[in-house]
Amino acid sequence: MGDNFSDFEDDVFDGVDEAQLLELEKPSTAKRQADDASQSSKRQKTAHPTSPSSRSQNPDHLALVERLLSEKFGYSSFRHEQEGAIKSILAGKNTLVVFPTGAGKSLCYQIPAIAFPLLDEAEGTRDAANGGVTIVVSPLIALMKDQVDALQKRGIAADSIDSTKSWDELQLIYTRLRRSELRILYCAPERLNNEGFLETVKGIPGGIRLLAVDEAHCISEWGHSFRPDYLKVARFVDEIKAERVICLTATATPKVAEDVCKAFSISPSCVFQTSPYRPNLQLYAKNIEVPPASVIKVFLGETEKSEDDVRFEEMFRFLRSHSGPTLVYVALQQQAETHAKILKKKGFNAAAFHAGMKTEDKQRIQDDFMASRIQIVCATIAFGMGIDKANIRNIIHWDLSNSIEEYSQQIGRAGRDGLTSHCMFYLAPNAFYMREVFARGDTPSRQSLASLISDIFVQGAGQPAGSVIQVSHYKQTNDFDIRQNPLGIIYATLELHFGLIRAITPEYSAYKFEATKTYFPTLKNDSSPEGKAVFSSATKKIKWFTIDVNDAARSAGGGLKRNDIVRKLNQLNERGHIKLQTSGIEHRYLILKELPQTKDEISSVVDKLYADLQNREKDALARSSEVMALITGRKCFARALAEHFGMGLPGGKESCGHCTFCMTRTPLKTPVRPRYAATAATIQEVLKATDLRDDPRFLARVAFGIRSPRVTKLKLEKSPAFRSLAHYDFEVCACACSVG
Ligand code: ADP
Ligand code: MG
Repeated sequence: MGDNFSDFEDDVFDGVDEAQLLELEKPSTAKRQADDASQSSKRQKTAHPTSPSSRSQNPDHLALVERLLSEKFGYSSFRHEQEGAIKSILAGKNTLVVFPTGAGKSLCYQIPAIAFPLLDEAEGTRDAANGGVTIVVSPLIALMKDQVDALQKRGIAADSIDSTKSWDELQLIYTRLRRSELRILYCAPERLNNEGFLETVKGIPGGIRLLAVDEAHCISEWGHSFRPDYLKVARFVDEIKAERVICLTATATPKVAEDVCKAFSISPSCVFQTSPYRPNLQLYAKNIEVPPASVIKVFLGETEKSEDDVRFEEMFRFLRSHSGPTLVYVALQQQAETHAKILKKKGFNAAAFHAGMKTEDKQRIQDDFMASRIQIVCATIAFGMGIDKANIRNIIHWDLSNSIEEYSQQIGRAGRDGLTSHCMFYLAPNAFYMREVFARGDTPSRQSLASLISDIFVQGAGQPAGSVIQVSHYKQTNDFDIRQNPLGIIYATLELHFGLIRAITPEYSAYKFEATKTYFPTLKNDSSPEGKAVFSSATKKIKWFTIDVNDAARSAGGGLKRNDIVRKLNQLNERGHIKLQTSGIEHRYLILKELPQTKDEISSVVDKLYADLQNREKDALARSSEVMALITGRKCFARALAEHFGMGLPGGKESCGHCTFCMTRTPLKTPVRPRYAATAATIQEVLKATDLRDDPRFLARVAFGIRSPRVTKLKLEKSPAFRSLAHYDFEVCACACSVG
């Protein structure tokens, strides 16, 4: 266990690649003024003057909305609370929609988006050239593409800004935006850091009629998949003066809903929520118990069964009696692989899916599963979002889910066709250990954090507000032994809580290319300053040309900017004169006010950040405990699930009648993990096994079995100290290590 990094959190969004965040589209607005940026924090939420709130009462609008539903989408009636949400939006009110996945949330912004110009025309309030646009912030490129395709097929002018777009395509999108020709534009939240994008959006005639925030629970720091860049969406809404906002999510606990409502000033009457209860899902759970080794077995030379052996036997039995498309959720990438292999050996038609796989392979597995050429997919959390397969019959949870929200989302993928489907949850003795490894692994040691913060602040030493610092998150992750996810949170906190910096468009640090046959003849005759700069600055090493774009711009002597060179390279690439490759993202931050420099000031920032990270760790552990409590509780699973989201069963029913608790009336056993308290002797063993003495908490993490960049660098997995205290209480170990 714990032999590999999980796909935990980051991978949910692994369709978002950083390439799309780079500024290639609007070279002229690369520099924003510091004061411009800092003004943004003053919140202001006023309805646009041309969106009278009387609209929703207008029966003509209802007729229009119904007409659009049937004419544009081909549906005969609204589902759930779609109609209420759409009316609320047309009335100019910020709105939150909480419907289960597959319920039809997208329609709640798609219909208003096409209704706006029609209503303008009917009311004579605006002309077509000022129709504005609806922007949808959505975390997954794959999801955006599906939506855009579907909309375009229906004749709706929609597009997305993402990394797969070429320079020319992006220019076309910007032109269409300026002409108010696009009704709906999708983008990733990271795009909002891009100054060029921000400027363009601000200049759209007719403005932003509606900003839709998909997967809006990511905004909540209480949520199970908090994404720092989502925190900036609210600021973005202010900066672009969006007329109104619609937030959409399938999973919002009351606390998360409260956070979202607060961030976007959504009043309780504008929250539309339906119960997550699904009558066709049978929710099962089973304790995995390892039988004590019997004397006879030992005598016969049969080895003792492990937790996994027992669990596999259970799973084989389950799969043999429950046919149909199945997802097996595991915690680790490595498990996805091994489980698929083991299932195949047993004659099942299975494959693995996780974020560590090549894009083509992932696509193939997904296609094969959709087409039912593959029956079982053993997957990490990375699989599922945007998979719209109606006849998934079984969902198996091999490991303890990270949160009830995650569990709810994953089982929600079963039985979209309304037919009976089965969800099995295995509760093994070591279930909690894995969750603890993840949660604790995300908290850096205070020492790591302090080194990181000093590094950032040293870079800004003596730099006035308005200057830019440039860092590589990738490098910092390794240098300071802090995982990507907490690193992002630290930067977002420095930005949004401390107001010290502001993320701006990242840049590639390195460009290299291979020249094709047309490269020399083209560039030799290219008299543009960019062309000349590229030609004279690119240096060839064996096969590849490398070019430092900053140097190239400088060498041209005035007039040229880094972006001009980048644009030129992209053009050459698109026209086939070179094959361009980029590497190494440099994140850039605008300094908003002088960064702390004294020891005391820095230490105070570090203390606050560290306390914040520790709280997040506690929250994460609490979320996993909630899953355990739900599965082992004396309550109908379906009811407990609905109650977690602040709802109940339909008609106020007490129980569903078709979950393990309803069927057995016996709660599952809570697995007890041996929680030894480390003694001086056990700690001595750890100390003997390694000569690490500089960071006690790091040492405790090693002993507990938590991997991190530094563990890998020092090859500590091989040390006998590694995971030697996995069965001990982590906090006690951490304390003991610092004393020892
Ligand atoms: P969600 O975002 O809530 O997961 P989607 O918006 O992707 O769900 O919609 C799921 C499916 O339901 C889509 O195929 C969509 O076209 C369909 N759908 C949405 N609203 C309706 C409706 N009122 N009647 C019939 N089908 C609908
Ligand atoms: Mg959706």
